[in-house]
Amino acid sequence: MKITTLFSVVMLSLLLPAQAAVMLIYHHVASDTPRVSSVTADELRGHLQYFKDHNFQVIGLDVLIRQLQQGEAIADNALVISFDDSYENNFSTAHPILQEFGYPYTIFISPGSIDKRDGPLLSWAQVKQMSDDGVLVANHAMWHEHMAKPDAGESAQQWRERMKQSILQAEDAIERHTGQRHQWLAYPYGEYSRELEQLVSELGFIGIGQQSGAIGNHTVLTRIPRFPAAGQYANLKDLAQKLKTLAFHITDDHKVDPVISTANPPTLTLSMQVADFHPAQLQCFAGSEVIKPQWLNDSTFSVTATKPVPRGRSRYNCTAPSVSKKGYYYWYSQPWLNQP
Ligand SMILES: [Zn+2]
Repeated sequence: MKITTLFSVVMLSLLLPAQAAVMLIYHHVASDTPRVSSVTADELRGHLQYFKDHNFQVIGLDVLIRQLQQGEAIADNALVISFDDSYENNFSTAHPILQEFGYPYTIFISPGSIDKRDGPLLSWAQVKQMSDDGVLVANHAMWHEHMAKPDAGESAQQWRERMKQSILQAEDAIERHTGQRHQWLAYPYGEYSRELEQLVSELGFIGIGQQSGAIGNHTVLTRIPRFPAAGQYANLKDLAQKLKTLAFHITDDHKVDPVISTANPPTLTLSMQVADFHPAQLQCFAGSEVIKPQWLNDSTFSVTATKPVPRGRSRYNCTAPSVSKKGYYYWYSQPWLNQP
């Protein structure tokens, strides 16, 4: 490539918003299950029809991960569908609807829970049937355990070994039953930590969270975000906005750890390329509270809630409208886990 061509390609990539994909997370597809983690069959059908009518490219997670790993351009309007927790209604209700649309999707399953028949879960025969029909089957830890940090009385070394066993046992079981081995781990409850990301990376796995946000070429592959699509998030007006999101090009996350160990409220500091949004239009929220980001220089801001984040899981969300792509928002979500 000539230097001048290279230069114009580099300039173009600085001026254009990066292409981004969005991954959705579903659980139940039923009308008699907890609303917070459910869509009805009609709602699911409505979502899929919307994707079709609006020219979303529903791609398999295998395709997206290959594009991310190889630095390929992400397809415009790329959309990935995933289901966690292997509920039986995924087979009886969701699967036929997804097949009707011809859309690929992924189920994240916990093999230990399936072995124990721990609830209204898929059987291995159903998992195998879905796998044979082209459904991607991936890892949600062996027992759906809280993974981010050691249990009380457990050493860091013991915790690490237990997590490693959970991840590898689950992967082996999935391979034994389906022949699939992707090495994608969706963290149960979306809970992760820097130490867990380190382990996941050392094991050669991809890590997938439940914090919201778009996925771009600079997304860290041990905490790929997903947007929830069930319960209060199932309505198409809100979902449509989530589908029109872009990923901030973050250049430094200043080692942010979701696990709150000292300062609460925690401070989120991010450095990023500020090319396609106005810094003054960046808005951040802790839950529903607006929190004001402070720009430390041209490319770095930090933000801290005014009061401590609650026990358990919470988030800071930051968004900014794209300058060049009308109606689109850059979106970043930082999960916190406060379990003193
Ligand atoms: Zn789960």
